[in-house]
Amino acid sequence: NSSSTNPIMKNSRVNQLHFVLIPLMSPGHHIPMIDMARLLAQHGVFATIVTTPLNALRFNSTIQRASDSGLQIRLVSLHFPSTEAGLPDGCENMDNLPSRTLIKNFFIASSMLQKPFEDLLLGLQPPPSCIVSGKNLAWTVETSRKFRIPRVFFDGMGCFAFCCTNRLEISKVHERVVSDSESFVVPGIPHRIELTKRKLPENLNPGSPDLTAVRNNMRAAEVVADAILVNTFEDLEADYVKDYKMVKGNNVWCIGPVSASNKSNLDKIERGDETASIEVSQWLDLWEPCTVIYACLGSICGLKPWQLQELGLGLEASNRPFIWVIRGGEKSQGLENWILEDGFEERTKKKGLVIRGWAPQVLILSHPAIGGFLTHCGWNSTLEGIDAGVPLITCPLFAEQFLNESLAVEVLGIGVRVGVEAAVTWGLEERSGLVIKKEDVRTAIEKVTDDGEEAEERRKKARELGKMAKKAIEHGGSSYLNMDTFIQFVKQQNEINN
Ligand code: UDP
Repeated sequence: NSSSTNPIMKNSRVNQLHFVLIPLMSPGHHIPMIDMARLLAQHGVFATIVTTPLNALRFNSTIQRASDSGLQIRLVSLHFPSTEAGLPDGCENMDNLPSRTLIKNFFIASSMLQKPFEDLLLGLQPPPSCIVSGKNLAWTVETSRKFRIPRVFFDGMGCFAFCCTNRLEISKVHERVVSDSESFVVPGIPHRIELTKRKLPENLNPGSPDLTAVRNNMRAAEVVADAILVNTFEDLEADYVKDYKMVKGNNVWCIGPVSASNKSNLDKIERGDETASIEVSQWLDLWEPCTVIYACLGSICGLKPWQLQELGLGLEASNRPFIWVIRGGEKSQGLENWILEDGFEERTKKKGLVIRGWAPQVLILSHPAIGGFLTHCGWNSTLEGIDAGVPLITCPLFAEQFLNESLAVEVLGIGVRVGVEAAVTWGLEERSGLVIKKEDVRTAIEKVTDDGEEAEERRKKARELGKMAKKAIEHGGSSYLNMDTFIQFVKQQNEINN
């Protein structure tokens, strides 16, 4: 029917609904919430993203472009009380926290946003109908009660990871092993997933107790959420979506992959940071389809130079063309010194491209030359690789990334492990042993790119999933329809409450 395809007519149906999104200020949360806000606006409602001045700089033109195209979307900045909470001036995002000891201060600063956020809500037009809030902002539960509007939780994980975590919390099998390296099977799920304690996320295997209170708070806020939005699509992990709904109740909506909402090249280039360069496209144009390995370990990887250089050497040893993203700036100084002293860049210049700083990941992944994605298995990256239809070379580091690795390798059959055996503690990476080994990187890349039947089968599965991902988000697809029913749910809740 034409009213569901025409955004203007859709507006008239739900024109007073206003979704206010406030993310956890880290790229892995902020970026999908920007995508989500744009998707909401495309479904005909108002969307306001609440952020801070320095974070807004990364997204201004993306939102401006969306607004110029007729969508009802805007960014609003609140002062982030960095110095008031003991953080360095200008530290508004977890990717520029100078040390792990300051995470607590970061959460304190985030909770100081409550009062200014509530003051903002009072003056917003149209009046807010719903708060979609990120993981650590437990205080939004109280805010939503004050304003008598639903509060929707967005965590950033997929359903498989949720379900594994849930089964482990209930069964506690991981607490009965005698050593960190003894394997156990996750009970009560459709696939046989073997893990060890040292691969588990910190909430199941706390490396240090400093964040226990923060985690408990987040947990309590998750339990009382009125609804949950998940960045995934139903066909990707159908059994686990079902299972997750059984555990959480039916107000769970899978609306992803949200990255697929970046249709234009400009949106892809500027996603996450407006300063990303487009030159990489021209470099990729030089290569045959499915030949280049793209390696990027996410936005907050703190591995030390002696660990990262193994990754670089493995890429070189694989003898395949590659793009290697390193963070750049002060934090990468040690790695830069190694690159220079070792002559790595000079040696690999015919085949390799080192990107310093922010890479336009979604643009790169969508290029036909990409033949494999070496990823740390952050959920956004995992899903972006799936959407691009490329096989994954999995190199998880922390959080639920080892669970995402199991999903890619065992459940979906589109991944090959580099063979990392133990999680590092985020911010304390220097304490961990060697996680990445050059030879393992080379072997995994060869396995993904060779001509054998197994590799071909993997590529085929990856391509099929890529098609399914695109279908899910398009008009009439499962994620598209879920977004519609989610909006209707919020509408009903507002009618009941007011
Ligand atoms: N990203 C990017 N360019 C980079 C590094 C990261 O565009 O150079 C994006 C990536 O596309 C993804 C997000 O940043 O959307 C990272 O989220 P993810 O969950 O994969 O990992 P995290 O950074 O949270 O560990």
